[in-house]
Amino acid sequence: MANQQLTVAVLPGDGIGPEVTREAVRALKIVAEYTGCTFRLDEHPIGGCAVEQLGSPLPRTTLDACLASDAVLLGAVGGPQWDDLPRSQRPETGLLQLRAALGGFANLRPASCSPVLADCSPLRREVVSGADVLVVRELLGGLYFSEPRGFSADSQEASNTMRYRAHEIERIARIAFDLASGRRRKVTSVDKANVLEVSQLWRQTVQRVGRDYPEVALDHVYVDACAMHLVTNPKRFDVIVTENLFGDVLSDEAAALTGSLGILPSATVGGQVNLYEPIHGSAPDIAGRDVANPLGAIASAAMLLRYSAGMPEAAQNVDAAIEMVLEAGHRTRDLSSGIPAHKVGTREMGTLVANAITDIYERQFAYHAV
Ligand code: NAD
Repeated sequence: MANQQLTVAVLPGDGIGPEVTREAVRALKIVAEYTGCTFRLDEHPIGGCAVEQLGSPLPRTTLDACLASDAVLLGAVGGPQWDDLPRSQRPETGLLQLRAALGGFANLRPASCSPVLADCSPLRREVVSGADVLVVRELLGGLYFSEPRGFSADSQEASNTMRYRAHEIERIARIAFDLASGRRRKVTSVDKANVLEVSQLWRQTVQRVGRDYPEVALDHVYVDACAMHLVTNPKRFDVIVTENLFGDVLSDEAAALTGSLGILPSATVGGQVNLYEPIHGSAPDIAGRDVANPLGAIASAAMLLRYSAGMPEAAQNVDAAIEMVLEAGHRTRDLSSGIPAHKVGTREMGTLVANAITDIYERQFAYHAV
């Protein structure tokens, strides 16, 4: 979508957040150069650095800027120096408040294992190579939010409630089917319908929504079986849709298949403004040393292009650039143990991806010019 303008609130945050976000922003700027799209990329503080600067982990100015933008691109928040602050002042509280204010109900976590990275996985190459799973997790309902909850008066009993209303299941199911329509056209709905009534409602509702998508195959898998299939045969999955708690566990399990936290992006969509962030944290152990892997942040920018900018071709080009750089053997430290690789730092990895994006666009222009 050329010539459009997009305002992106950029929140680098703490630790390695600023290092990896810088490279994601670079990728967006190159896309802008070649597509005629204008990105207004304004930085705002969040997390521990915001506590230092403005006394709050989510300053009002940051929140207002996010709510007024078309998308939010976040690095990561947190660090040991803020761990002893009161709960309201902790960096993670700022991030939770931001997520709540943006209102996204669908968390998208792609986890793919390209053949070039298959040896980084804890699983055997033949099991994991080529796996490409997208976990769609419901984020605002279920056990984490439903009432009643709490301790009994004598603190000897505690309970939580898993409640879903049909409309909450329907809206997340539609997201999953829409996404599957643009992928390999398969949705696996994960529940525990043999035991839980809430899962029976989940299953009936997903089945009903599925009738509107005859081109998409639907199957239902119990959560325990899903956890097993993810490590024995991850290639059986395309899109997995599931409720909040199951999704929390399964999306981390799917991430582990790929062998590095540093390469995985995420998006939270469906609310007022979509939020894009790598799945890793602020990694204080490696912050400021130019060793962090920026690919998860760059891939998050690709998701932003796909889901907020309506630029799927640009997203594809960024993803292809990442793949090209990995195929050429370049690796940040987290991906390089035990294999012959050209070791690069955060900045150099960002430069390599930026150059690869440029090459892809130059080739496309040259092709259209002849
Ligand atoms: P982490 O993801 O920051 O780090 C876990 C391990 O993975 C570390 O060894 C780290 O060096 C490595 N790692 C992470 N990202 C990497 C990258 N891009 N490249 C190379 N290696 C990478 O998780 P943690 O150590 O449990 O948490 C550290 C801090 O981050 C804590 O304060 C935590 O609260 C915060 N955190 C924030 C978010 C977020 O902002 N969304 C998410 C998780 C944790």
